[in-house]
Amino acid sequence: MSKKNWHEKLGKSISADEWYRNYSTDIPRCKVCNNILSFIAVANNNRTTHFRHPENSGCPTIGYNHSHFANLLRTEQDETNALYLKKWVLENGYLLYKQMCEILGASIKYPEFTEILIAGNHRKCWYYFDLTVSILPYTLLVNYGVFQKEKGRKGREQRVFLAFDSTITTYEQLWNNPSAAAEYVFRIYPDSQEYEVIPIGDIRNIVNTEPPEYFQRYLVKSNLK
Ligand SMILES: [Zn+2]
Repeated sequence: MSKKNWHEKLGKSISADEWYRNYSTDIPRCKVCNNILSFIAVANNNRTTHFRHPENSGCPTIGYNHSHFANLLRTEQDETNALYLKKWVLENGYLLYKQMCEILGASIKYPEFTEILIAGNHRKCWYYFDLTVSILPYTLLVNYGVFQKEKGRKGREQRVFLAFDSTITTYEQLWNNPSAAAEYVFRIYPDSQEYEVIPIGDIRNIVNTEPPEYFQRYLVKSNLK
């Protein structure tokens, strides 16, 4: 159950209470899994309304249905582009780090940044055909998986992970013939089963791209390959 859901016409998430009160003719649909949600009033003595998914919806906002999204297919390997991307990361690691924090809406620890790159090595993310620098931070975050709760860290009050639209089955669909589904990613908070819709490519507010001296250490540790 979740307290909020994305309202397509309003272009933002609103509470089940507000939806029920003001938009009762609009059918609530989860933007992540596209299922129709029902309203449920929880607890007898308070009137808070929640949204509920149908059973077995397989929605990644519920539990750990994350792996499907991390296992997008790769059609062929692009060696030349991989060399370019890895070189770009080595030269722009801190910018990439900042972009990832912005996209996730959360502070990422430097050791986690190393882990994200290592996870990218394991999946050979660099070799996705024609992968661009602008899609790279999204791809690496989706591939990494769940960021654990971190007390006192911005945006880490609960677990969070990034997912692409479920209708996307190969990474190439994100940059070749992009459809409407390739225009956004989801920030998913599995503990509250809530999500935010984030437009791809809309990275603003990045300031201070000068890396601290010790940042390089975390970049090198990832041993890009
Ligand atoms: Zn859903």
